[in-house]
Amino acid sequence: MPLENQLLKWYLINKRDLPWRKNKDPYSVWISEIILQQTKVSQGVQYYKNFMERFPNIEKLSTSKESHVLKAWQGLGYYNRAINLHKTSKEIINNLDGEFPSTYTDLIKLKGIGDYTASAISSICFDEFNPVVDGNVMRFLTRYNGIKEPIDSKKTQNKVKEIGKRLIDKTNSPGDFNQAMMEFGALICTPFPACDSCILSSKCTAYKKNIVEKLPFKLKKKKAKERFFNYIVLVDPKNKTLIEKRIKKDIWFKLNQFPLVETNFKVNNIRKVSSFNKFINSQKILIKNNTFSKYNIKHVLSHQVLHISFYIFKTEKDIPLGIDLSGLSNYNFPVPINNFIIKKLF
Ligand code: SF4
Repeated sequence: MPLENQLLKWYLINKRDLPWRKNKDPYSVWISEIILQQTKVSQGVQYYKNFMERFPNIEKLSTSKESHVLKAWQGLGYYNRAINLHKTSKEIINNLDGEFPSTYTDLIKLKGIGDYTASAISSICFDEFNPVVDGNVMRFLTRYNGIKEPIDSKKTQNKVKEIGKRLIDKTNSPGDFNQAMMEFGALICTPFPACDSCILSSKCTAYKKNIVEKLPFKLKKKKAKERFFNYIVLVDPKNKTLIEKRIKKDIWFKLNQFPLVETNFKVNNIRKVSSFNKFINSQKILIKNNTFSKYNIKHVLSHQVLHISFYIFKTEKDIPLGIDLSGLSNYNFPVPINNFIIKKLF
């Protein structure tokens, strides 16, 4: 049986019962694909359900506040995805008469929709023959075809996409075929596959050549950047504090934080850091008893390791423009700051 038919047959029997597979509505497929770009299915399901409950359709998403969308995204990371979802929903409602684009060519013009998402939506919802190549498909097709070139090169990515295109063109159901390849990579051709029981082992190049664990081949991974975040948590006599919004294009863009002193070294004594003293002087703040409490955590992102310290200072006088500690839950914070607020501030 040809590979494409084997995969489709396997998929129809083994596919997982996932909420976004209940229908071919482009809105729900779009939301699920964006969530799953950086999140495992097991974690993504609950986020998807919560998001759809909060924003059940594109009209609702487009008329919601950006801060509410960010709040629903809290914990998923890569907040630009939520910002772009919101922008694109407005674009569809305001400039496309609320009509979700139905072709790859029109989908890819939208903010936050790249080749992968445009291929997924156009094939699953509108039966276009566009192959998807996510990490699971890449792993499966490079192994099956014995491709030894680095998968982080554009050339290899194009080569794998070509293979996907040749396969999908031979099927009658491009959406199911794409999902079959992704599902096969996610469940069978995993990073640690059980090749002996794989239905494709007799035809798989990597298996026959005994090079499965060498593929897919990646060029050396870039070392994660280490960053040192020192948060100044001021608490005045009325239990008010100061927060600020992250406005630079960086991680956690548009989320809130306590005043930050970022250093390029691990701080032993914050009082000796000039930018800390500059900040305290600019706020005309008097620290009570000249003491503070400190909490350290390490937070690992895909390309960065954050060494975060929270310094809690009690102030002698009220903080002008301070906000109530009890009202912090109304603001969007990144997960490590949110955890600190819940566990250490109350
Ligand atoms: S034999 Fe192993 S490497 Fe080949 S497709 Fe099956 S699971 Fe993947």
